[in-house]
Amino acid sequence: MKIKTIESFILSDKLKESFYFSQWEYSERRICIVKITCDNGLIGWGEGYGPAGLVQAGIEHLTPFVLGKSPLETEAIWTIMYRRTLDFARRGILVSAMSAIDVALWDLKGKILGLPVHLLLGGKKRDVIIPYATGMYFTKGPKLSEILSKEAKAYAKEGFKGMKMKVGLGIKEDIEHVKLVREAIGPDIDLMIDANHAYNLREAIQLAKAVEPYNIYWFEEPISPEYYEQYAELRTKTTIPIAGGECEYLRFGFQTLLKSKSVDIVQPDICSTGGLTEAKRIATLASVYGVEVVPHTWGTGIAIAAAAHFVSNLDTIPGRLKKPKFYMEYDRTENGLRDQLTISDMIIENGELRICDAPGLGFQINEDALYKYAEKEVSKYGGNSLKKA
Ligand code: CA
Repeated sequence: MKIKTIESFILSDKLKESFYFSQWEYSERRICIVKITCDNGLIGWGEGYGPAGLVQAGIEHLTPFVLGKSPLETEAIWTIMYRRTLDFARRGILVSAMSAIDVALWDLKGKILGLPVHLLLGGKKRDVIIPYATGMYFTKGPKLSEILSKEAKAYAKEGFKGMKMKVGLGIKEDIEHVKLVREAIGPDIDLMIDANHAYNLREAIQLAKAVEPYNIYWFEEPISPEYYEQYAELRTKTTIPIAGGECEYLRFGFQTLLKSKSVDIVQPDICSTGGLTEAKRIATLASVYGVEVVPHTWGTGIAIAAAAHFVSNLDTIPGRLKKPKFYMEYDRTENGLRDQLTISDMIIENGELRICDAPGLGFQINEDALYKYAEKEVSKYGGNSLKKA
């Protein structure tokens, strides 16, 4: 059994309405996905988080080292990919490219064995996980606070038990927005805030102190990810748990984050931090430090499925009779790629996602959506089997 072809596709979707966060504006969603075909005809899908063209170049660079190998040897292939790139890129886009291939191999391995990925990871430790709604980005217009409140209410009505809003526009505006959103959703829904590292330590302390009365579940990326010691200091200055890690790569990056006591919650992105193979190691490492893991997820149904299988396999630390909530990120911003590319049995109802037992990552690719969103380029290796269904 051998890996026959590795094809990558760049998918893009122009948004009807652009939105922005503390760093820049989004007017389209663009992502690189990878299709790995085994010589027995079975297929696995993966995706890489990061600039799509660079992820695709990374996948093409890695392809010769992966073709012809057994798709069951996910860890052995991971090691080969890492050895061939570590001199140049122990973090960043090449690791995202590795992640895309690794996720596709786990999907393919599951399809070959007829088993769900959560079983290959060691078994699901829960059937239900709790997706929290990521939204409440900024839009241009005069009444942003009204828009945010309305959006928050809509998520509450849909049954979400947790939701995350953006901050980072300025302390005064942030406080006002957090106050209005908390009023809109009432006291019982978990509310997270995410600054996407827009603040320095002084500002992050100021904002954290000011929003403590609004019962914030976590404060995500308050400070730029390089400032591990400032993160650690912030943790001593606020009662709000601090989250971060979407910009970290590999277990080595997470070791730095954990050793420096920078965060209460680590947020590896499976599609950029080294795939499922490395995310599992990161979870083990976090367990050594007794730190919670809630993966960052931003992409198509491929990334969402990978995160769901991963979260279902996480240990409850510490063990206890009454089970704690296990959250996963669930982006609700406009994204046709996310909504249409995959057809999955994992349906979200009443704020809960039930893990399915279908082989691999448990979704089918919607070929019509793939054709619709794929930029019509031919990748260097394995041809391009993009066909109108
Ligand atoms: Ca974030």
